[in-house]
Amino acid sequence: MGEIVRYSIVGHGEPIKWPQRCPCCGGEQNLTYSQARAARESISGLSRIRLRTEWYDFSILTCRDHAFSNWLGGKILEKTTAATVFRSTVYFCLFLVAVMALQFATGMRTWHETMAEERPRIFFLVVGTIGALGLLLILWAKSAAKVYVMKLDKDQNVAILHFSSEKYAREFKRVNMKATSRRLADSMPFFMRPSFIKFALIAGVILLVGAMVGR
Ligand SMILES: [Zn+2]
Repeated sequence: MGEIVRYSIVGHGEPIKWPQRCPCCGGEQNLTYSQARAARESISGLSRIRLRTEWYDFSILTCRDHAFSNWLGGKILEKTTAATVFRSTVYFCLFLVAVMALQFATGMRTWHETMAEERPRIFFLVVGTIGALGLLLILWAKSAAKVYVMKLDKDQNVAILHFSSEKYAREFKRVNMKATSRRLADSMPFFMRPSFIKFALIAGVILLVGAMVGR
């Protein structure tokens, strides 16, 4: 599961600090920084719709040996559109494999028949390979990425970080007391969030129009 830590990127004027050891192995030698990006993607514009990305760059401290695996694992698990599409594709392929397995089990389809025809065979092999390799990669990422940046909060200038170790997360919060304080980093209640207010306004207009048309 791990720990989620909210880190405010504004309002404290302090650089980010890290416990002086590698979050992967605990080593205190050969420490190095690698880049990670907290991103927020939103759709903007009415006449010309475009995807807007805002981001904030972080440096994450690990030892040299774990810099790459921690970075790559984080890339696979982060909540950007690209990584989410990748993970969803893997899970969808696994779902298809499960459906086919169920068909084999219940006799709706036989293994022999599926493998004898070209199209079902290729389909099964492609979907099965993507599902299996993708799942291995995701599981590897979960064990390799001890610290990674998930995303920027949709409505607040707060980055959401994921830590595998509760102890390390506690230490991180202690050395970044201001930036992780409730005053700066706490999650806004949903009814105060701009995205909720926008949604409520649009829903209100639709209901109003609906009521007027319905009369
Ligand atoms: Zn290490």
